[in-house]
Amino acid sequence: MRILISNDDGFQAPGVVALYEALKDIAQVEVVAPEHNNSAKSNALTLHSPLYVHRAANGFRYVNGTPADCVHIALTGLLDYRPDLVVSGINNGANMGDDTIYSGTVGAAMEGYLFGIPSIAFSQVQRDWLHLDAAASKARQMVLQMVEKNLLGGSPWLLNVNIPNLPSDQLGRVKLCRLGRRHAAEPVITQQSPRGETMYWIGAAGAAKDDADGTDFHATAQGHIAITPLKVDLTDHDNLGYWAQTAALLSSGMGAA
Ligand code: MN
Repeated sequence: MRILISNDDGFQAPGVVALYEALKDIAQVEVVAPEHNNSAKSNALTLHSPLYVHRAANGFRYVNGTPADCVHIALTGLLDYRPDLVVSGINNGANMGDDTIYSGTVGAAMEGYLFGIPSIAFSQVQRDWLHLDAAASKARQMVLQMVEKNLLGGSPWLLNVNIPNLPSDQLGRVKLCRLGRRHAAEPVITQQSPRGETMYWIGAAGAAKDDADGTDFHATAQGHIAITPLKVDLTDHDNLGYWAQTAALLSSGMGAA
């Protein structure tokens, strides 16, 4: 088995090191990760500047680009094989609900998925790396189970996994969840620069709005490992009927031929 690992916190982040250490003896593992922190870069690709790949002393490759750049480069030119699995993380902080739209951790995994490879995004719920060893151990067990249960090799899938920061013996079961929702983000924070200009810092993510039973927020709050299968199609399938009528209405008022 061959596994490509990436992340969004950068190649030196404890989470990617822990993930590599947890997986390195069960597969041929390659790390291609951003040089710097690229959290909240989603699926961004770098189109207007060249990308360079360097190899760190520990063997990890790092790229002056985004998480999606890393996976894209790895799959389209850097590696001379096609990985059986792409894993991303372990992220420093939750990627639940609306976070998945912004997340570079999910973006790296999604890039693997878009290239037809089963892909998993792993995140720890809290941002303090506490019990990272337990999270990495669970990630290892999950990948081993996927191999044992023959979940790799079929049609591709994209799995979002959030692990509470708990010691192994307090972590609950693997629970299938839908994404919850967050409130809108906190307002931007402004500061004066030394030259008198106003600077803006993007505010913190909003608190959970929909954390009902069945959501990732709910499961992780109960100590469970939340897994959510994701898809890329953003079409609002539930409301296509309404929009068919609305499109006709718009069209009739717009003088269409
Ligand atoms: Mn991150």
